[in-house]
Amino acid sequence: MGKHTGFMEYPRKGVPYRDPAERSTDFNEIFTEPNEEHLKLQGARCMDCGVPFCQSANGCPIDNLIPEWNDLVYHGRWKDALDRLHKTNNFPEFTGRTCPAPCEGACVLGITDPAVTIKNIENAIIDRGYAEGWVEPRVPEHRTGKRVAVVGSGPAGLAAADQLNKAGHSVVVYERADRIGGLLMYGIPNMKLDKKVVDRRVDVLRRSGIEFVTNADIGRNVDPKQLQQEFDAVLLATGATRPRDLEIPGRDLDGIHFAMEFLTANTRSLLDSNLADGRYISAKDRNVLVIGGGDTGADCIGTALRHGARNIVNLELLDQPPEQRAPDNPWPLWPKILRTDYAHEEAITRFGADPRNYAIVSKRFVDDGKGRVRAVETARIEWQTNGERPQMKEIADSLQRLDADLVLLAMGFLGPEAYLSEALGVALDARSNYRAEHGDFSTNVPGVFAAGDCRRGQSLVVWAINEGRGAARAIDIFLRGTSRLPAPGITMGTAAG
Ligand SMILES: Cc1cc2nc3c(=O)[nH]c(=O)nc-3n(C[C@H](O)[C@H](O)[C@H](O)COP(=O)(O)OP(=O)(O)OC[C@H]3O[C@@H](n4cnc5c(N)ncnc54)[C@H](O)[C@@H]3O)c2cc1C
Ligand code: SF4
Repeated sequence: MGKHTGFMEYPRKGVPYRDPAERSTDFNEIFTEPNEEHLKLQGARCMDCGVPFCQSANGCPIDNLIPEWNDLVYHGRWKDALDRLHKTNNFPEFTGRTCPAPCEGACVLGITDPAVTIKNIENAIIDRGYAEGWVEPRVPEHRTGKRVAVVGSGPAGLAAADQLNKAGHSVVVYERADRIGGLLMYGIPNMKLDKKVVDRRVDVLRRSGIEFVTNADIGRNVDPKQLQQEFDAVLLATGATRPRDLEIPGRDLDGIHFAMEFLTANTRSLLDSNLADGRYISAKDRNVLVIGGGDTGADCIGTALRHGARNIVNLELLDQPPEQRAPDNPWPLWPKILRTDYAHEEAITRFGADPRNYAIVSKRFVDDGKGRVRAVETARIEWQTNGERPQMKEIADSLQRLDADLVLLAMGFLGPEAYLSEALGVALDARSNYRAEHGDFSTNVPGVFAAGDCRRGQSLVVWAINEGRGAARAIDIFLRGTSRLPAPGITMGTAAG
C-alpha cells in the first residue's frame, strides 16, 4: 500500500473528458491526458484491503491485480505495473477506455467514499507502456505443432488467439469484415476507442506469430468443414450480431435502421476517407430518434451529434434508474444507477436538455407520404409488479407524436446468426446462443469451442476477454491434456454484463 492515509487525504478525481462542446464536433478520442502526479495521488487512495473485492467475484471479471498496480503506480514503478496488468488482461487499452468498471462498483472505499479511479489508472499504465516501447511482440520459443482456427476477431477471439499463441499453438484468426477487431473496430465508435489503438494491438499480435485472414466469412465464402479438417480445434467467437427488431406498423419505411448499420458504416467511411466518400447514413440536419438505451444507444447519439443532427430524442422502455443505489442493490453489487455517459453529456450541452425519455413504448411509425418516416407515435407506460416478472401497462390517453426522419434501433441483440451453427451442427441454448459451459467452452461438436457474446449473449469487452482466455485454456487442455494458461474467474457475473 503506497500511502496509508491516501484515501483520507486525496479526494477522487477522474481524468476529465475533453470539453463536450468541442469534442462533439470531431471523432477524436474524448479523453484528456492525465499527468503523472495526478495518477500517483489517485493510486494512493487505494487502501490495499484485506479482501480486495475490486478484483474478485463482483468486481473485475478478469481478476486484474488492482491493489498491486495501484501501489506500483504510486511508487512510480510503471514497468512493473504494466507487467502485473498484462498477467490478467491481454488488452488493457481496450478495457481502460471502454469498461464500465464493475471493479469500481465493488471497491471497498466505495462503501463510505467515492471509489478509487481504477479504470483511469489501468488506461494510463498501458498508454505509458506503449509510449515507452514496453509492449513488444512475444513469439513463443517452442511450437506444439497443433493448429487452432479462431472464427471472429472481437475481444474474445483476440484474447483466445493471444493466449493460445503464448502456449505455442499456431493460430489463424478468420474475420468476415475487412478489418480486424469485431465490435472494437466496427461497433464502439472512434471517439471512445481510436481505431489506431486497435490496429496497434493487432500489429503486436501479428508480429507475435498470429495469422489474420479478413473477408473470410466462415459458413458463406469459407466452408467450416474445411477448418475442421485443417485445424486441431476451432473456436467460434462470432459475437451476438442478430439485432432485436421493432415490429410495429411502418417499420418498412425509409429512414429506419438498425444501430449497427449506422455505426459500422460511419466508422468504415471515417477510416476509408474521413467521411468524404459519403458511404454512411448521415444524421445531418435530421430529427434523430434513437430507440433503446445502453452503450449502443449512447454511441448512436454521439455519432449523430458529430454529423450535425438537428435534434436527438432517445426512448427507453424501462423506468429511469435511481440516482443512488436502491436498498436491494447494495455494495459490492454493480450499482444500477442513472449514468450520464459521454454522449448524453454532449447532447445536453448541444441542445440544453437530456435526450433520454424513460418508460415510453413506440406504437407506430408515420409515413411522410413518400415512403420515408416522418414521426413516431408513442405512449407512456408503467411497470407493474405482482411478485412476478414486471408487466408493462400502457397509460391511458398518453399517446404522443414525435418528429423523426432518422430512426435508429438500438434494442439489443439476440445471439449469433444461425448459418455457421447450422453448417457445423452446433447446438444452441434457450437464448439462441451457442451452447457451451463457461470453464469448458466446448460445444456439442467435438473440437469446436465457443466464447464471448456468441456464447454468453450480448455483454462487455471485459467479459469477452475473460471468455477468450478461458476458452484458450480449455482448448490447450483438449490439445495437450494439461495447461499452464490461467483460468479466469468463472462465476458471479455482474449486472454490468
Ligand atoms: C455499439 C456498441 C458499443 C459497445 N460499447 C461497449 C463499451 O463501451 N464497453 C464494453 O465493455 N462493451 C461495449 N459493447 C459490447 C462489446 O463490444 C461486446 O460485448 C464485445 O465486443 C463482444 O466481443 P466478442 O469477441 O464476443 O464479439 P464481437 O466483438 O462481436 O466480434 C465478433 C466478430 O466475429 C465476426 N464474425 C461473425 N460471424 C463470422 C463468421 N461466420 N466468419 C467470420 N467472422 C465472423 C464478426 O464480424 C465480428 O467481427 C458495445 C457493443 C456495441 C454493439
Ligand atoms: S477491466 Fe474493467 S473491471 Fe477490470 S480493472 Fe479494468 S476497468 Fe475495472
